[in-house]
Amino acid sequence: MTDQEHPRYEKARCCHCEGAGCIYCDKTGYVLVKAPSCLCRHCGGAGCIYCGFTGWAGLKGKYDE
Ligand SMILES: [Zn+2]
Ligand SMILES: [Zn+2]
Repeated sequence: MTDQEHPRYEKARCCHCEGAGCIYCDKTGYVLVKAPSCLCRHCGGAGCIYCGFTGWAGLKGKYDE
């Protein structure tokens, strides 16, 4: 019973390209962010260095805990 061990992630549409695909979302148009997904508090979804320019907080890979 170690469900808490790994954080859950969900797909969120990349704010930088709005789903079109760009280098920040690996050309998929979506990024995996920690659930529940929430917009980056630094830029409010505009994209900044803190969210890897995806507009989302808790980006998988960048901020693994
Ligand atoms: Zn993108
Ligand atoms: Zn940001």
